[in-house]
Amino acid sequence: MTGAELAAIRKAAGLSQTELAQRAGIGRHAVSYWECKAKVERSAWAVERMGEVLTLPDALVVLPVRRSSIDRRAQEMARQDALMLTTIQAVEARLKAIKANRRVRCKAKTRKGTACQMKSEPGKRRCKFHGGRSTGPTTVEGRARIAEAQRKRWARWRASQAVKAAGLVS
Ligand SMILES: [Zn+2]
Repeated sequence: MTGAELAAIRKAAGLSQTELAQRAGIGRHAVSYWECKAKVERSAWAVERMGEVLTLPDALVVLPVRRSSIDRRAQEMARQDALMLTTIQAVEARLKAIKANRRVRCKAKTRKGTACQMKSEPGKRRCKFHGGRSTGPTTVEGRARIAEAQRKRWARWRASQAVKAAGLVS
């Protein structure tokens, strides 16, 4: 292929030198350089890039060109995936931060028998007077007491579920 043929193919595609250069990701001077040459080196880097935009003769060299185009698409997809992941992580981090600082109504039972109207400690469900600052039992006895309370609580819950299920069946 001669440089003149390359220019003819470009014009047939309705592209200016600048447009071809932009689409191929090369400099405009590379386009004019090769269009002035008597023989166009099909394996030259800039020519390969032009071959991704234009249909150039010499099919043998087209294959690796297609390959690089596929690689670029894969790269672009990977980049978008990474961007999406970053966005999701940012949103998750933001939600976590909101949750960690959220203050709700304490509602613990007071001595009057009404619900506590204090705001909870940030990220906790109880106010500072009703255990909101507690990080849980630390002694062996304390931990055992909580474990036992939890065991009883969930046993009650399971029993109530069984009753409900039985009610649905009958
Ligand atoms: Zn309270």
